[in-house]
Amino acid sequence: MLEKLKEKVCAANIELSKKGIVIYTWGNVSELDAETKLVVIKPSGVPYETMTPDDMVVLDLEGSIIEGHYKPSSDAPTHLEIYRNFPEIKSVTHTHSAYATSFAQAGTPLKAFGTTHADYFYGEVPVTRELSEDEVASDYELNTGKVIAETIKRLNINPVAIPAILVKSHGPFIFGKNAENCVHNAVVLEEIAKMNYLTMNINPHTMPIPQYLLDKHYLRKHGKNAYYGQK
Ligand SMILES: [Zn+2]
Repeated sequence: MLEKLKEKVCAANIELSKKGIVIYTWGNVSELDAETKLVVIKPSGVPYETMTPDDMVVLDLEGSIIEGHYKPSSDAPTHLEIYRNFPEIKSVTHTHSAYATSFAQAGTPLKAFGTTHADYFYGEVPVTRELSEDEVASDYELNTGKVIAETIKRLNINPVAIPAILVKSHGPFIFGKNAENCVHNAVVLEEIAKMNYLTMNINPHTMPIPQYLLDKHYLRKHGKNAYYGQK
């Protein structure tokens, strides 16, 4: 079942490790199959070196295992809560990449300081509130998804235009139109977080880029009259 998608999701998970933003088994990628509404996700704790498409786990949106001989990633309830809230999100990636995670720990959003940011994120990448003791004590992973959804809705963000969020004291969750695109966004987010850190160190008073420049860069790549790259 969903053999092609399992191959793609497996390759995307391995790519996270190859790009150096994930060590051991820290990251996870899933993708939603638009037709069946089933989610293919990385298994829990299987090393990237030996992971095969056959190890991927197929879940329905309520979290029942439809296929797979391993347990799904422990973060699966977070992924599913994101898919249930935002049908426009087709893939979710979670990492503990160092710079993005450091901003999450500090509770500091990633301001749009330059055009690199604007090419991928149409504004500031936000941070969620801290989860409460009760939210951590039971259904922790589900509640992580809920605080993500709550933050995106409260800030009235389009998660396609700003495809990432930092969970306070935890790390980034990144969105995409498919697993490959999502991992690409995760790698870019880490690079942007690094640049953000350096910028804030060079000049703590740096202002976000002007709206017209943010518009120019984001919209030339993603707007309805996009002209960046090859047709
Ligand atoms: Zn995590």
